[in-house]
Formats: sequence, structure tokens, C-alpha cells
Amino acid sequence: MGTHTVHFRCHHCGHCCTDVVCLPTPWDVIRIVKQTGQNPYAFLAFLTPEDVTGVNKSDPTWLDCQGKRYIMALRRGKKGCYFLHPKTRFCTAYEARPILCRLYPFKLHETRAGAFKAFSLHTDVGCPRHRDGLYETGPLYALYTADSAHQEDYARLVEVFNRRRYPDKRPEHFVEMFVTGFSDSMTPAKS
Ligand code: SF4
Ligand code: SF4
Repeated sequence: MGTHTVHFRCHHCGHCCTDVVCLPTPWDVIRIVKQTGQNPYAFLAFLTPEDVTGVNKSDPTWLDCQGKRYIMALRRGKKGCYFLHPKTRFCTAYEARPILCRLYPFKLHETRAGAFKAFSLHTDVGCPRHRDGLYETGPLYALYTADSAHQEDYARLVEVFNRRRYPDKRPEHFVEMFVTGFSDSMTPAKS
């Protein structure tokens, strides 16, 4: 039985929505499309290793396309995430936001046997880590385990995509494997 609570309150400094690249899973993308109706090609970007830091070269979600590598991310502009409202600075996709956003800045600790132990706050993600609030760890752990399962499925889907050979293969084609009914020809919205 792990620790039931972790002290934290978000003070809405905006750091995680402006300075951090968010990498959604396909399941996050599906949820956002279903709940907001937005075209995934408008809110997604495909970043090269030069565009993004902190993602291991061996990460299983790199997409291979004609000799280049890309990773799926939420599109960002000068003022931050695509979904960040420019004036209110609130997330316009809050109810559908990726699990990564929901878990930030919590860090999981497990026992050697892999059982839940506790959550702490990441020290290396730039969050000011205010301690004047309280979170239940049960729902956080449920989110974490859901995200872990999604990451495993994500890696398997990328493996299939990376094996595919067809002309003009682009990272946008990956989206067609799990979202249908949208066109990738629309001009992405400017942030
Ligand atoms: S960096 Fe931390 S305090 Fe700032 S908005 Fe994100 S979670 Fe909240
Ligand atoms: S989806 Fe919402 S919570 Fe996540 S980074 Fe973008 S604005 Fe922030």
C-alpha cells in the first residue's frame, strides 16, 4: 500500500503549457478529436531530433519516413501550446487534454517488485512545485497505469508504421492509422 496523498497545487504559472513540448499518445489524439471535433492535422506537429530535446534516440515512438525520423507532438507557436488560449492562458482542450498534461509534474515511485509506492514532484521539469495543495495518489496512479498501457500500444503501432513501405511516406500518414475522416491538406492554424 503506497502513500495516499502528495502535496501540490498548480499556481498556473504557464510553464508547462508554454515551454514544454507535449507528446500525446494516439489515444490522447483520438480523445481530443472526439471531444473537440478539431482536425488532428491542425493541432499535431511532427518534430525531428533537431526540434526536440529530452527524447531518447531509442524511444520506440520515433516515426521512420524516407530516411528521416519524426516524433508526434502537440503543435506549438510562439506563445505556447496550440490549445493554450492566447488571452486567458487556460487550456481550451482541458477536459480532453493528454494524460501527460494531467500527470505533470508528478513522478511515480515504485517498489522493486513494481508495486505502487508514492508520487513526488519532478525536480527537473521546471515546475515551481508549490506545496500548498493536496492530491489523492489513487487517481494519479490510475492515470499512470493507463498511460503506460497506451505507450506500449503506441510503440507497437509505430513498429507497424515503420515497417510500411509506400511512396511519399510522411509522418502525417501515421495519423491515418488511428483517426479517419480528416484531411491532412488543410493549412495548420497559426498560434
Ligand atoms: S509548471 Fe507547475 S505550477 Fe506552472 S502551470 Fe504547470 S503544473 Fe502549474
Ligand atoms: S493540451 Fe492543454 S494542458 Fe496540455 S500543454 Fe496544451 S494547453 Fe497545456
